[in-house]
Amino acid sequence: MTEILALHAFDDNYIWLLRAAGHVAVVDPGDAAPVFDYLARSGDRLCAILTTHHHGDHVGGVEEILARSAVPVFGPALENIPGVTETLVGGERIGVPEIGLELYVIAVPGHTRGHVAYYGPSLGEGGAVFCGDTLFGAGCGRLFEGTPTQMQNSLAKLAVLPAPTLVYCGHEYTQNNLRFARAVEPDNIAVQQRSENVARERAAGRATVPSSIDVELATNPFLRWDAPAVRTAAANRVGHVPTDAVETFTAIREWKNHF
Ligand code: ZN
Ligand code: FE
Repeated sequence: MTEILALHAFDDNYIWLLRAAGHVAVVDPGDAAPVFDYLARSGDRLCAILTTHHHGDHVGGVEEILARSAVPVFGPALENIPGVTETLVGGERIGVPEIGLELYVIAVPGHTRGHVAYYGPSLGEGGAVFCGDTLFGAGCGRLFEGTPTQMQNSLAKLAVLPAPTLVYCGHEYTQNNLRFARAVEPDNIAVQQRSENVARERAAGRATVPSSIDVELATNPFLRWDAPAVRTAAANRVGHVPTDAVETFTAIREWKNHF
């Protein structure tokens, strides 16, 4: 059984470790130091690096890690990430044999042009997805390189993963995102309850990641383009009833940019 562990980097980044039988794969090592610390502490052997997108806080440690251990590096074909050996466009099934793991690659452009997510149906009880800066706890990434249509389509692909799938995103942003979610849907009880839970967890210094697809479907305004309250909130922003999911998503994303 593959274990999933978190390392902290910078202010609020997570580096995820997938570990089994003394081997470990690392997801989005923005900084090499915490990875080296972990390897020294555990005695585990690094077997692969997985990257979701080219931003420095996700790939900044790749070359330094490679200088010590030459392992396969997975990453998006559309992005220039030094050290990548296995390029991905989405739709691939990749194997990390040392930890007995198979992952499905999902193309999720929007935050960046080539952003990919890694879905492991066999991880944990009900699967897990590593989605970088696409889907966050109660939020989504900014549109740096992609269009709102691309991002909404990408989020829709994640939304249809099985409900218990655990969501391992790249940042601890949940508490801040829930302030916005409350503004979008002031009457959503699930948002209110999640806000209370998350405030308690953060006050105790605990992580709010991973969440799960079902929790995100109930509380994340960027997946709730079909919810009447979210459509109404979007209508109030743009002055007319949105015609489709993309227009609703676009209005909510635009609002968050200035929130
Ligand atoms: Zn990013
Ligand atoms: Fe990031």
